[in-house]
Amino acid sequence: MALRAGQLVIMPTETVYGLAADASNPEAVARIFEAKGRPRFNPLIAHVADAVEAESIAVFDSQARALAEAFWPGPMTIVAPVRARDRVCDLARAGLDSVAIRVPGHAKARAVISAFGGPVVAPSANRSGRPSPTTFADAVEETGASAGAAVDGGRCAVGVESTVVSVLDGKVSLLRPGSVTREDLEAVVGPLHESDQGHRSPGRLALHYAPDAPVTINATEAPTDGILLGFGEGVGDPRWSLSPKGDLREAAANLFRLLREADRTRPSAIWVSPIPTHGLGEAINDRLRRAAGFVG
Ligand code: AMP
Ligand code: MG
Repeated sequence: MALRAGQLVIMPTETVYGLAADASNPEAVARIFEAKGRPRFNPLIAHVADAVEAESIAVFDSQARALAEAFWPGPMTIVAPVRARDRVCDLARAGLDSVAIRVPGHAKARAVISAFGGPVVAPSANRSGRPSPTTFADAVEETGASAGAAVDGGRCAVGVESTVVSVLDGKVSLLRPGSVTREDLEAVVGPLHESDQGHRSPGRLALHYAPDAPVTINATEAPTDGILLGFGEGVGDPRWSLSPKGDLREAAANLFRLLREADRTRPSAIWVSPIPTHGLGEAINDRLRRAAGFVG
């Protein structure tokens, strides 16, 4: 089947049409960003068959469990600490220690997920900057050329993206409003925590993983106590190469894993070779500029 082969599949859900890939396969996930022409890597939602599978991937406390019971299957996504890192790869989580997970209600989405037998990431099937497709024809027009298969599920019933809720450190916060409303959520777990809008706080809701070591981009060599993440043949130590053959998809697939592994060795600094700026290179460079502190 297409997903198992690392291909993309246009998948209907009750919210919008998704462009689906095997969540555990970083090259397949890199293909999604390539197909969407997205200038940055944001964390994606892993779609699973049921709450039991969700809990095999994420750590749910009693509040997360109550939300899952109340709203799944359905248009609500829970962000919780990741338990099984490899089942939703680093690129799909944008390197974060949390994972966004949902059990969709659409019968055809459920059929695709069960036939595949594992978590599937599926951001909206539009190209970057365009509206999310809610009909099969629109989805095929947007990203059909990049997909190995496409499933027609008719018109999407909800038509807006899922409500995203984080359940971290015992606090429930609304990250993205959707058709499951704040009132619906509060009826289950009581008053929500007033989130300080993740991206501005350095806390666990931060939307971007940042290494502890300082990062320098467009470097050609690293001092001996630093690590050079190379790109292309013969650049630096191959163990630390984003892509020895200079392939942007491979570099995207390796990016978060190598940043983390490099950081774990506690280097004085992480240096990164110049990365071309076309195609996936735009998102890779965006991520590196953030890591280097040029963008908030
Ligand atoms: P999409 O898959 O395009 O519908 O959007 C995924 C949404 O979930 C985006 O708003 C992400 O920012 C959010 N999201 C996914 N994973 C996380 C996470 N680990 N922490 C916070 N937000 C997340
Ligand atoms: Mg979208």
